[in-house]
Amino acid sequence: MKKFEQFQDMIGRLYPETIITNNASDRRTLSRTVTFQVTDECNLCCTYCYQINKGKRKMKFEDAKKLIDMLLTGDERLGNYIDASTSPGIIIEFIGGEPFLCVDLIDQICTYFYDKAIELMHPWATKFCISICSNGVLYFEPKVQKFLNKWRHNLSFSITIDGNKALHDACRVFPDGTGSYDVAVAGARDWISRGYYMGSKITIAPGNVQHLFSAIKHMVELGYKDINANVVYEKGWTLDHAKIYYEQLKMLADYWLENDLADDHFMALFENDFFKPKEETDVENWCGGTGFMLAMDPDGWLYPCIRYMESSLGTSREPLRIGHVNFGIAQRKCDKQCVECLNKIDRRTESSDECFYCPIAEGCSWCSAYNYQENGTPDSRCTYICDMHKTRSLANAYFWNKWYRKKHWKQRFKIYCPDEWAIPIIGEEELDMLKELSKEDQNET
Ligand code: SF4
Ligand code: SF4
Repeated sequence: MKKFEQFQDMIGRLYPETIITNNASDRRTLSRTVTFQVTDECNLCCTYCYQINKGKRKMKFEDAKKLIDMLLTGDERLGNYIDASTSPGIIIEFIGGEPFLCVDLIDQICTYFYDKAIELMHPWATKFCISICSNGVLYFEPKVQKFLNKWRHNLSFSITIDGNKALHDACRVFPDGTGSYDVAVAGARDWISRGYYMGSKITIAPGNVQHLFSAIKHMVELGYKDINANVVYEKGWTLDHAKIYYEQLKMLADYWLENDLADDHFMALFENDFFKPKEETDVENWCGGTGFMLAMDPDGWLYPCIRYMESSLGTSREPLRIGHVNFGIAQRKCDKQCVECLNKIDRRTESSDECFYCPIAEGCSWCSAYNYQENGTPDSRCTYICDMHKTRSLANAYFWNKWYRKKHWKQRFKIYCPDEWAIPIIGEEELDMLKELSKEDQNET
């Protein structure tokens, strides 16, 4: 499967001294993400938006400037949370609401960061990436075009498309109820046609899982090559959804194989290194949401991830803050305790024994902030996606073994998912077929 180089990988390739090596198979460059929520206002009213509390707040440039100054000068009020020694490069991310509602502010922040980093001869002056995910509505605005053109060499940009027009317009609507598909696709097509990379992220939820195949096929037809998709962590998955997911993934696998897409496309749902047990020594957290990221809201409050903000949590939990741009990180007693607790969280502390020793633990993910929302602590893993991960492991056995056979390779994808987990989802006959596919063929190399 073709892999597209992400900023993290590029930093590791260009600056091999920044790679942190825990063991031979785990070589990573840990560039941190700093997220500016420039506004909580949006020009769409998507039905499923995770940002529950939308408003009209806008970040002050002075607040963004304060944070950049602290980051670039290694201000001790950041309490060693993030600096060039812990983060060889930096990803500066802008989110909203819709971030391009504040494109002037974003440009002002990027320009200030760049000029200041050069002035200070900071290592991040040459190792930064600006990341923006937009709904595409303002893409053709002259000042958005000017911004995209100015920063194109340091930009990771994506426009969210939810599959085909019917699917997209069912959820991603303007306040008057009309769909936003046409305008979003026009922007995505324009960016791709100019030869730039466009990332993608498809969110699979109980309400749309039956459209997964057609959604991804449509993305491929639009020209997307790097296709990322994930199942939502939220409550609501049933065994029936898992059965539908399996059928959709199988259709996707056949489409990928028939069209030889693996040679020049990436499809995150097929991963040949997942769906096996994890080493007991591998206790790394799934995501950066326990102290490897930093996010600032429009009022200057600082969080370990945007998902701990009030705009994501609504009224279900208190926002989980670790500081404020006026006084820094972990400077108040409560913030200090919060950062210390986050630092102690790992896969072992978060997981039940069932998950820790699971035969397909590799690749089974969780969101620490959603754990907090649901269980009151990031340190207790929600497992609503369990059946969906088991299903994905089985569909991967189908895809990879068909692909290895098509290539006449001897290599096989081993099925670690126990029969008693597989049968309720796909039935005995289908499981037998998968086992047959996973057998070695002595004529192959
Ligand atoms: S949620 Fe289920 S599939 Fe995932 S690690 Fe836990 S037991 Fe395994
Ligand atoms: S999985 Fe959740 S906590 Fe982790 S980075 Fe993503 S949104 Fe944040």
